Amino acid sequence: MISVTSLLCQTNSFGDRLRYHPSSRHQKHGTSPGRGPVVVWNMTRACNLRCLHCYAAARERHPGELTTREAQKLIDDLASFKVPVLLFSGGEPLLREDFFALASYAAARGLRTVLSTNGTLIDRRTAARLREAGVSYVGVSLDGVGETNDRFRGHRGAFKAALEGIRFCLEAGLRVGIRFTLNRHNYAQLPAIFALIEEEGIPRACFYHLVYSGRARYMIGDDLGHEETRAALDLIIEKTMEFCRRGAEKEILTVDNHADGPYIYLKFRRQDPQKAEEIYRLLRQNGGNRSGIAIAAVDWEGNVHPDQFSLHHTLGNVRQRSFGQIWTDDSHPTLRGLRNRRSLLHGRCSRCRFLEVCNGNFRSRAEAVYGDFWAPDPACYLTEEEIKPA
Ligand code: SF4
Repeated sequence: MISVTSLLCQTNSFGDRLRYHPSSRHQKHGTSPGRGPVVVWNMTRACNLRCLHCYAAARERHPGELTTREAQKLIDDLASFKVPVLLFSGGEPLLREDFFALASYAAARGLRTVLSTNGTLIDRRTAARLREAGVSYVGVSLDGVGETNDRFRGHRGAFKAALEGIRFCLEAGLRVGIRFTLNRHNYAQLPAIFALIEEEGIPRACFYHLVYSGRARYMIGDDLGHEETRAALDLIIEKTMEFCRRGAEKEILTVDNHADGPYIYLKFRRQDPQKAEEIYRLLRQNGGNRSGIAIAAVDWEGNVHPDQFSLHHTLGNVRQRSFGQIWTDDSHPTLRGLRNRRSLLHGRCSRCRFLEVCNGNFRSRAEAVYGDFWAPDPACYLTEEEIKPA
């Protein structure tokens, strides 16, 4: 995750302190010394929608889903491993009947909890219950305005229901944001999404690059071309700068493509070298992609993975060993490789001058396209000229 707002406007949110901690880049097992990773818990496979790009390929409930008791034990493990953030994802987390009990349980154990949801099931009462359960942030997926969103989500009326959900969350005093996944069919709607967050008073927007996992494996040809990605980034940067100039309290982030960091740096190196140096300092502190280091995923059956897009790489199961035991066991080759990836990466990533701030980007995208976990990330849109040593 790259906070464009933080890089360009030097803000300092809770997330920024996790992302840009001075020692972040040197960690092997978590976000900072003595802390565990941010954990995405795909707590259910069940979903009421059928989104085209769902990385979890969510559908009906899995019969082997962790029970409430097992889920509480997982939360206890995560709290004792000092996980800073537990992100409830799915499927649709609100379809678990015990969602509120588990969210309250996690908050009572000192975990900062975040909900990733399609937003369509949030009514006024649900929003109030989320607040009571101590959920600190609600990210609602919207992949366009109106019918564009509904086509992606496989459900007519999904946009209207999600927008109502967002309004109820805002009314309840919850921090809420939009999660928008860029692809060829919706990127022309970026200005409309920025207009929406202004009109609705939504304080945060995260722009996700497509990762070819789950059902998105069938969307590789629908991803943006490199020139389109650059144009999308230019617009995101321009809008973020505009918010900064106006003092509008909006947090804008890009997610799942660490080439965005060097791209922003290079753009400002031409316009404002001093700002560019500060941007580079923050990117260097962060260290780029941190799958298997500061990000972990646990699926509905309790399997642990290096991130939520690598569900086919299983490191262990929390029914057999605690999360902390699994996460600190470097004997698994994928985990060990992710923590010492420099010598394994090949192709353009291995010779890139920005490797220290990107860390080779997303391995699951390389694997989906080339069948090789350590190949270059095909979504890197920097030119050969840009990545060659200065
Ligand atoms: S070439 Fe690889 S390491 Fe360099 S910016 Fe692109 S994805 Fe990152």
